[in-house]
Amino acid sequence: MAVTTVPPSGPTPPTPPRADTLKSTAPATGEVLGEVPVCSAAEVTAAVARARAAAAAWSALSYREREGELVRWRQAVAEAADELADLIHRENGKPRLDALVEVFMALSHLDHAAHRAARALRPEKVSAGLMANFRATVSYHPLGVVGVIGPWNYPIFTPMGSIAYALAAGNAVVFKPSELTPLVGVKLVELAARALSIPDVLQVVTGAGPTGAALCKAGVDKLAFTGSTATGKKVMAACAETLTPVLMELGGKDPMIVAEDADVDAAAEAAVFGALTNTGQACISIERIYVAEPLYDRFVDRVVNEVSKVKVGGDDGHLGAMTSAQQVAIVKDHLEDAVRRGARALTGGPDAITGNFIQPTVLVDVTDDMKVVQEETFGPVIPIMKVASTEEAVRRANETTFGLGSAVFGKQARAVADRIRAGMTSVNSVLAYSAITSLPFGGVGESGFGRIHGDQGIREFARTKATAEQVFSLPVNMLSFRQPRNAADRVRGMIKQLYGSGAVARAKDLLGKLR
Ligand code: NAD
Repeated sequence: MAVTTVPPSGPTPPTPPRADTLKSTAPATGEVLGEVPVCSAAEVTAAVARARAAAAAWSALSYREREGELVRWRQAVAEAADELADLIHRENGKPRLDALVEVFMALSHLDHAAHRAARALRPEKVSAGLMANFRATVSYHPLGVVGVIGPWNYPIFTPMGSIAYALAAGNAVVFKPSELTPLVGVKLVELAARALSIPDVLQVVTGAGPTGAALCKAGVDKLAFTGSTATGKKVMAACAETLTPVLMELGGKDPMIVAEDADVDAAAEAAVFGALTNTGQACISIERIYVAEPLYDRFVDRVVNEVSKVKVGGDDGHLGAMTSAQQVAIVKDHLEDAVRRGARALTGGPDAITGNFIQPTVLVDVTDDMKVVQEETFGPVIPIMKVASTEEAVRRANETTFGLGSAVFGKQARAVADRIRAGMTSVNSVLAYSAITSLPFGGVGESGFGRIHGDQGIREFARTKATAEQVFSLPVNMLSFRQPRNAADRVRGMIKQLYGSGAVARAKDLLGKLR
């Protein structure tokens, strides 16, 4: 899809103006950055049809050839890193450094997916068990066309987790970026179009919810959705009509546990970064902190001290503008609800909001009935709660319908991590799993299902095929109606022999004799 206006830094293709467009504005300044088409259902369907033709050619390439193609795209993105980061900074509102880090992380996943696909998808020979005369193989094949719907908070990093892995697995992709960050999506796809030798392997369709809804119904072979839980449910319902499989990367309410033997300074520094990076607009933001009673006062002091050094806005700011006024309103509502129910804001607070800029808030005296504990806040808010034991911390951390990321600090943190019902946990750190390309990323419960990143993230975009190949015939063929008269007796004997009460002892006896 061509854009009618592109950001000032890029060339402007000569496309005729169209009535149905949407403007992209900078959240920090309100400046209009560009305009993109609102793609109709017919245009989305046409894009999927083009993708299907591209998928045939793309899937016919060898892994090595696709790896070469994707490395060319990676190089193009790396060369355009500053331009892309500048666009992310202006369109999303995050600081330039954060935008550049986002490009860097997206590149690490593109690189990983490109190099790893052949290994992750190589056919596996598995035991044929009882069917000893068969060779059993599991193999992986491209799905065809994958639809990717993305959010605005990490407009390159997040969709890349689906796009790169789906392409590496041999699929073509139609990408619908968020209506708040469409120019970044268009730029990413322009770079791919120049780098990849097969046209339409990666296309972009721009627009808001209805364009995304059209993609769900356009006959894609899988729909990878990243966004809010509420929209995820709509996407799943739409895809259910055609039994289109879905990958759901949804919201979170990530807990952090600080056990009584934790390093308080390290935990406080990490908590502030984990809660505030990207102005708290990360699906894996730390949104609730449970601190062991003996450490509580020191931890709160350290967090407040750390937050006092965080600068909001300006060229050297740690935090940029919130991406939308709508998100600012949600954060304000959560803060007002907390204060009304008795929480104290040690920094920031509901009045420390100017336009799309929010001063970070440390909240204490927080109770479980507050919105800041129950719902995804997606803003620069740090609710801290005191707990009597690690037991209580684990119980309260798990009292949520979400289950995306989490963090645990303490000497026994590794064991505690296993008891948190979430897709991911960082031990004595925060958010680290998202930057480790070999680790699968995804959630449970209302945080979604399916995985991006890692080998599982590649297989997520492949169809699993089981093949049973007969390599020699046995005197008794169970896959035939021609059976001896005593067939039932033989089967009965085998059942007892293999699975009856003495089966384990007999198997051991047999093994012993063989040794
Ligand atoms: P959103 O649900 O409002 O929108 C996400 C995308 O869905 C957008 O592109 C939007 O246009 C599209 N959309 C809206 N209605 C649709 C419909 N009916 N059918 C199809 N598509 C539709 O989410 P958002 O506000 O853009 O993103 C923030 C949310 O995303 C947060 O909840 C955050 O936690 C979540 N998120 C999750 C992950 C993850 O990996 N789990 C990563 C980043 C963000």
